[in-house]
Amino acid sequence: KDGLKKTRENFFGKFKKILSGKTLNDEIREEIEELLILSDVGFEATQYILEKLEEIKGGDPFDNLKNIIEDLLSGDNALNIPETHPFVINMVGVNGSGKTTTAGKLAALFSSQNKNVVLAACDTFRAAAIDQLKIWAERTKSSFIAHSEGADAAAVAYDAVKHAQAKSKDIVILDTAGRLHTKSNLMEELKKINRVIKKVVPDAPHEVLLVIDAVTGQNGLQQAKVFKDAVNVTGIILTKLDGTAKGGIAIAIAKELGIPIKFIGVGEKIEDLRPFNAHEFVEALLE
Ligand code: GDP
Repeated sequence: KDGLKKTRENFFGKFKKILSGKTLNDEIREEIEELLILSDVGFEATQYILEKLEEIKGGDPFDNLKNIIEDLLSGDNALNIPETHPFVINMVGVNGSGKTTTAGKLAALFSSQNKNVVLAACDTFRAAAIDQLKIWAERTKSSFIAHSEGADAAAVAYDAVKHAQAKSKDIVILDTAGRLHTKSNLMEELKKINRVIKKVVPDAPHEVLLVIDAVTGQNGLQQAKVFKDAVNVTGIILTKLDGTAKGGIAIAIAKELGIPIKFIGVGEKIEDLRPFNAHEFVEALLE
Protein backbone atom coordinates (compact mmCIF):
# COMPACT_ATOMS: atom_id res chain seq x y z
CA LYS A 1 0.00 0.00 0.00
CA ASP A 2 1.64 3.19 -1.18
CA GLY A 3 -0.26 5.38 1.26
CA LEU A 4 1.88 3.92 4.04
CA LYS A 5 5.16 4.13 2.15
CA LYS A 6 6.74 6.84 4.29
CA THR A 7 6.11 5.04 7.56
CA ARG A 8 7.30 1.75 6.15
CA GLU A 9 10.49 3.21 4.71
CA ASN A 10 11.37 5.23 7.79
CA PHE A 11 10.44 3.00 10.67
CA PHE A 12 8.40 -0.14 10.37
CA GLY A 13 10.44 -1.62 7.55
CA LYS A 14 13.35 -1.84 9.98
CA PHE A 15 11.68 -4.20 12.43
CA LYS A 16 12.13 -7.22 10.21
CA LYS A 17 15.88 -6.76 10.06
CA ILE A 18 16.14 -6.24 13.80
CA LEU A 19 13.86 -9.07 14.86
CA SER A 20 13.56 -11.78 12.25
CA GLY A 21 15.41 -14.92 13.27
CA LYS A 22 16.81 -13.24 16.40
CA THR A 23 16.61 -13.91 20.10
CA LEU A 24 15.52 -10.93 22.20
CA ASN A 25 18.24 -9.20 24.20
CA ASP A 26 18.61 -5.78 25.81
CA GLU A 27 20.10 -4.18 22.74
CA ILE A 28 17.28 -5.41 20.51
CA ARG A 29 14.66 -4.36 23.06
CA GLU A 30 16.10 -0.84 23.15
CA GLU A 31 16.19 -0.58 19.38
CA ILE A 32 12.56 -1.66 19.14
CA GLU A 33 11.47 0.73 21.85
CA GLU A 34 13.20 3.62 20.13
CA LEU A 35 11.70 2.80 16.73
CA LEU A 36 8.20 2.50 18.18
CA ILE A 37 8.45 5.82 19.99
CA LEU A 38 9.93 7.55 16.92
CA SER A 39 7.07 6.32 14.78
CA ASP A 40 4.47 7.83 17.16
CA VAL A 41 3.24 4.60 18.73
CA GLY A 42 3.31 6.49 22.04
CA PHE A 43 4.64 5.46 25.45
CA GLU A 44 1.66 3.42 26.62
CA ALA A 45 1.32 1.23 23.54
CA THR A 46 5.10 0.87 23.23
CA GLN A 47 5.42 -0.51 26.76
CA TYR A 48 2.47 -2.81 26.12
CA ILE A 49 4.03 -4.16 22.92
CA LEU A 50 7.39 -4.75 24.64
CA GLU A 51 5.75 -6.61 27.52
CA LYS A 52 3.75 -8.81 25.17
CA LEU A 53 6.83 -9.54 23.10
CA GLU A 54 8.56 -10.70 26.27
CA GLU A 55 5.61 -12.85 27.32
CA ILE A 56 5.31 -14.86 24.14
CA LYS A 57 7.49 -17.94 24.26
CA GLY A 58 8.69 -19.40 21.01
CA GLY A 59 8.02 -18.35 17.45
CA ASP A 60 9.92 -15.77 15.46
CA PRO A 61 10.01 -12.41 17.30
CA PHE A 62 9.16 -10.55 14.10
CA ASP A 63 6.01 -12.63 13.54
CA ASN A 64 5.15 -12.20 17.19
CA LEU A 65 5.45 -8.43 16.85
CA LYS A 66 3.13 -8.46 13.85
CA ASN A 67 0.57 -10.48 15.75
CA ILE A 68 0.70 -8.21 18.79
CA ILE A 69 0.19 -5.09 16.68
CA GLU A 70 -2.58 -6.70 14.64
CA ASP A 71 -4.38 -7.69 17.85
CA LEU A 72 -4.05 -4.14 19.17
CA LEU A 73 -5.54 -2.71 15.99
CA SER A 74 -8.35 -5.21 15.67
CA GLY A 75 -11.83 -4.02 16.46
CA ASP A 76 -15.26 -3.85 14.93
CA ASN A 77 -14.41 -1.87 11.82
CA ALA A 78 -17.77 -2.25 10.08
CA LEU A 79 -20.19 0.65 9.91
CA ASN A 80 -23.22 0.34 12.16
CA ILE A 81 -25.80 0.55 9.38
CA PRO A 82 -29.42 0.54 10.65
CA GLU A 83 -32.20 -1.61 9.17
CA THR A 84 -34.28 1.42 8.22
CA HIS A 85 -33.03 4.51 6.45
CA PRO A 86 -31.75 7.12 6.77
CA PHE A 87 -28.37 6.04 8.08
CA VAL A 88 -27.10 9.14 9.90
CA ILE A 89 -23.37 9.78 10.24
CA ASN A 90 -22.07 12.66 12.31
CA MET A 91 -18.52 13.66 11.35
CA VAL A 92 -16.55 15.42 14.06
CA GLY A 93 -12.96 16.61 14.48
CA VAL A 94 -10.80 19.72 14.64
CA ASN A 95 -10.47 22.11 11.71
CA GLY A 96 -7.92 20.95 9.19
CA SER A 97 -8.18 17.29 10.17
CA GLY A 98 -9.71 16.48 6.78
CA LYS A 99 -13.32 16.26 7.90
CA THR A 100 -14.96 17.90 4.90
CA THR A 101 -12.76 16.05 2.43
CA THR A 102 -13.54 12.77 4.16
CA ALA A 103 -17.27 13.53 4.17
CA GLY A 104 -16.93 14.00 0.40
CA LYS A 105 -14.96 10.78 -0.03
CA LEU A 106 -17.55 8.87 1.98
CA ALA A 107 -20.35 10.37 -0.11
CA ALA A 108 -18.50 9.19 -3.22
CA LEU A 109 -18.10 5.70 -1.78
CA PHE A 110 -21.80 5.43 -0.94
CA SER A 111 -22.85 6.92 -4.28
CA SER A 112 -20.80 4.24 -6.01
CA GLN A 113 -22.89 1.69 -4.10
CA ASN A 114 -26.03 3.31 -5.55
CA LYS A 115 -26.98 4.95 -2.28
CA ASN A 116 -28.59 8.39 -2.14
CA VAL A 117 -26.57 10.68 0.07
CA VAL A 118 -27.43 13.96 1.78
CA LEU A 119 -24.49 16.16 2.75
CA ALA A 120 -25.29 18.68 5.48
CA ALA A 121 -23.15 21.76 6.14
CA CYS A 122 -23.33 21.95 9.93
CA ASP A 123 -20.14 23.99 10.16
CA THR A 124 -22.04 27.26 9.93
CA PHE A 125 -19.13 29.09 11.53
CA ARG A 126 -17.13 29.40 8.32
CA ALA A 127 -18.69 30.33 4.96
CA ALA A 128 -15.76 28.63 3.22
CA ALA A 129 -16.65 25.32 4.86
CA ILE A 130 -20.18 25.54 3.45
CA ASP A 131 -18.84 26.28 -0.05
CA GLN A 132 -16.32 23.45 0.15
CA LEU A 133 -18.98 20.90 1.09
CA LYS A 134 -21.23 22.16 -1.70
CA ILE A 135 -18.52 21.33 -4.23
CA TRP A 136 -18.29 17.80 -2.82
CA ALA A 137 -22.07 17.45 -3.05
CA GLU A 138 -21.98 18.43 -6.74
CA ARG A 139 -19.05 16.13 -7.42
CA THR A 140 -20.71 13.14 -5.77
CA LYS A 141 -24.27 13.93 -6.95
CA SER A 142 -25.43 14.18 -3.36
CA SER A 143 -28.23 16.38 -2.03
CA PHE A 144 -26.93 19.41 -0.21
CA ILE A 145 -28.49 21.02 2.85
CA ALA A 146 -27.11 24.30 4.20
CA HIS A 147 -28.29 27.44 5.95
CA SER A 148 -26.49 30.74 5.93
CA GLU A 149 -23.28 31.44 7.81
CA GLY A 150 -23.88 31.83 11.53
CA ALA A 151 -27.07 29.74 11.54
CA ASP A 152 -27.77 27.15 14.23
CA ALA A 153 -25.82 24.00 13.34
CA ALA A 154 -28.43 21.77 14.95
CA ALA A 155 -31.15 23.32 12.77
CA VAL A 156 -29.16 22.38 9.65
CA ALA A 157 -28.77 18.81 10.95
CA TYR A 158 -32.48 18.62 11.73
CA ASP A 159 -33.42 19.83 8.23
CA ALA A 160 -31.02 17.38 6.62
CA VAL A 161 -32.43 14.39 8.47
CA LYS A 162 -36.02 15.56 7.83
CA HIS A 163 -35.21 15.98 4.13
CA ALA A 164 -33.67 12.50 3.99
CA GLN A 165 -36.71 10.98 5.61
CA ALA A 166 -39.19 12.81 3.39
CA LYS A 167 -37.29 11.93 0.20
CA SER A 168 -36.33 8.40 1.24
CA LYS A 169 -32.62 9.10 1.07
CA ASP A 170 -30.31 6.37 2.31
CA ILE A 171 -27.57 8.26 4.10
CA VAL A 172 -27.07 11.61 5.81
CA ILE A 173 -23.55 12.86 6.46
CA LEU A 174 -23.29 15.80 8.83
CA ASP A 175 -20.12 17.87 8.41
CA THR A 176 -19.72 19.72 11.70
CA ALA A 177 -17.53 22.54 12.97
CA GLY A 178 -14.05 22.01 14.40
CA ARG A 179 -13.11 25.25 16.14
CA LEU A 180 -11.50 23.94 19.27
CA HIS A 181 -9.76 27.09 20.36
CA THR A 182 -12.53 29.66 20.55
CA LYS A 183 -14.77 30.47 23.46
CA SER A 184 -18.05 29.33 21.96
CA ASN A 185 -18.61 25.78 23.09
CA LEU A 186 -18.13 23.35 20.25
CA MET A 187 -18.82 20.28 22.38
CA GLU A 188 -22.22 21.68 23.44
CA GLU A 189 -22.99 22.35 19.78
CA LEU A 190 -22.13 18.75 18.84
CA LYS A 191 -24.22 17.35 21.68
CA LYS A 192 -27.14 19.51 20.59
CA ILE A 193 -26.88 18.19 17.03
CA ASN A 194 -27.01 14.61 18.33
CA ARG A 195 -29.99 15.48 20.51
CA VAL A 196 -32.00 17.32 17.90
CA ILE A 197 -31.72 14.70 15.14
CA LYS A 198 -33.19 12.10 17.51
CA LYS A 199 -36.48 13.99 17.24
CA VAL A 200 -36.63 12.77 13.64
CA VAL A 201 -34.69 9.48 13.82
CA PRO A 202 -34.69 8.24 17.43
CA ASP A 203 -31.61 6.01 17.13
CA ALA A 204 -29.54 8.61 15.23
CA PRO A 205 -26.67 9.28 14.93
CA HIS A 206 -25.80 5.71 14.02
CA GLU A 207 -22.16 6.63 13.70
CA VAL A 208 -20.15 9.48 15.19
CA LEU A 209 -16.90 9.36 13.24
CA LEU A 210 -13.98 11.28 14.66
CA VAL A 211 -11.54 12.46 12.01
CA ILE A 212 -7.91 12.63 13.16
CA ASP A 213 -4.97 13.96 11.14
CA ALA A 214 -2.13 11.41 11.42
CA VAL A 215 0.44 14.15 10.84
CA THR A 216 -0.50 15.86 14.12
CA GLY A 217 0.46 12.68 15.99
CA GLN A 218 0.30 12.76 19.76
CA ASN A 219 -1.30 16.25 19.71
CA GLY A 220 -4.12 14.97 17.59
CA LEU A 221 -4.56 12.12 20.02
CA GLN A 222 -4.94 14.53 22.94
CA GLN A 223 -7.57 16.53 21.02
CA ALA A 224 -9.36 13.30 20.22
CA LYS A 225 -9.80 12.63 23.92
CA VAL A 226 -11.78 15.88 24.24
CA PHE A 227 -14.23 14.67 21.58
CA LYS A 228 -14.39 11.18 23.04
CA ASP A 229 -15.33 12.57 26.44
CA ALA A 230 -18.01 14.88 25.01
CA VAL A 231 -19.78 12.87 22.32
CA ASN A 232 -20.24 9.16 21.89
CA VAL A 233 -17.60 8.54 19.22
CA THR A 234 -18.22 5.22 17.46
CA GLY A 235 -15.29 5.16 15.07
CA ILE A 236 -12.09 6.86 14.01
CA ILE A 237 -11.07 7.98 10.55
CA LEU A 238 -7.32 8.53 10.44
CA THR A 239 -6.39 10.87 7.58
CA LYS A 240 -3.16 11.92 5.88
CA LEU A 241 -1.35 8.66 6.57
CA ASP A 242 0.36 9.30 3.22
CA GLY A 243 1.79 12.54 4.58
CA THR A 244 3.62 11.18 7.60
CA ALA A 245 6.45 8.80 8.36
CA LYS A 246 4.84 8.29 11.77
CA GLY A 247 1.96 5.99 10.94
CA GLY A 248 2.46 4.35 14.32
CA ILE A 249 -0.08 6.87 15.60
CA ALA A 250 -2.76 4.37 14.49
CA ILE A 251 -1.47 2.01 17.18
CA ALA A 252 -1.44 4.73 19.85
CA ILE A 253 -5.01 5.64 18.94
CA ALA A 254 -6.23 2.06 19.12
CA LYS A 255 -4.59 1.55 22.51
CA GLU A 256 -5.38 4.86 24.17
CA LEU A 257 -8.83 5.64 22.79
CA GLY A 258 -10.14 2.10 22.53
CA ILE A 259 -12.35 3.12 19.59
CA PRO A 260 -12.08 1.17 16.32
CA ILE A 261 -10.44 2.80 13.32
CA LYS A 262 -13.01 2.44 10.53
CA PHE A 263 -11.33 4.17 7.59
CA ILE A 264 -7.96 5.63 6.68
CA GLY A 265 -7.20 8.54 4.36
CA VAL A 266 -4.17 8.06 2.16
CA GLY A 267 -4.35 11.08 -0.14
CA GLU A 268 -6.36 14.11 -1.23
CA LYS A 269 -8.19 12.47 -4.11
CA ILE A 270 -11.75 11.19 -3.99
CA GLU A 271 -10.67 7.55 -4.08
CA ASP A 272 -8.05 7.89 -1.34
CA LEU A 273 -10.21 6.52 1.45
CA ARG A 274 -9.83 2.89 2.53
CA PRO A 275 -11.85 0.76 4.91
CA PHE A 276 -9.48 -0.04 7.74
CA ASN A 277 -8.33 -3.63 8.05
CA ALA A 278 -5.87 -4.45 10.84
CA HIS A 279 -4.30 -7.38 9.01
CA GLU A 280 -3.75 -5.47 5.76
CA PHE A 281 -2.46 -2.47 7.66
CA VAL A 282 0.13 -4.51 9.52
CA GLU A 283 1.17 -6.33 6.36
CA ALA A 284 1.61 -3.00 4.57
CA LEU A 285 3.71 -1.54 7.37
CA LEU A 286 5.78 -4.54 8.36
CA GLU A 287 6.50 -6.35 5.17
P1 GDP B 1 -11.50 20.12 7.71
O1 GDP B 1 -11.16 21.51 8.14
O2 GDP B 1 -11.35 19.15 8.83
O3 GDP B 1 -12.83 20.00 7.05
O4 GDP B 1 -10.36 19.69 6.67
P2 GDP B 1 -10.38 19.62 5.08
O5 GDP B 1 -11.28 18.55 4.61
O6 GDP B 1 -10.60 20.98 4.54
O7 GDP B 1 -8.90 19.13 4.78
C1 GDP B 1 -7.75 19.88 5.09
C2 GDP B 1 -6.66 19.56 4.07
O8 GDP B 1 -6.23 18.21 4.23
C3 GDP B 1 -7.12 19.67 2.62
O9 GDP B 1 -6.10 20.28 1.88
C4 GDP B 1 -7.32 18.21 2.19
O10 GDP B 1 -7.13 18.03 0.81
C5 GDP B 1 -6.23 17.53 2.99
N1 GDP B 1 -6.50 16.09 3.23
C6 GDP B 1 -7.61 15.51 3.74
N2 GDP B 1 -7.44 14.18 3.84
C7 GDP B 1 -6.20 13.88 3.38
C8 GDP B 1 -5.43 12.67 3.24
O11 GDP B 1 -5.84 11.54 3.58
N3 GDP B 1 -4.17 12.81 2.73
C9 GDP B 1 -3.65 14.03 2.37
N4 GDP B 1 -2.41 14.07 1.89
N5 GDP B 1 -4.34 15.17 2.50
C10 GDP B 1 -5.60 15.11 2.99
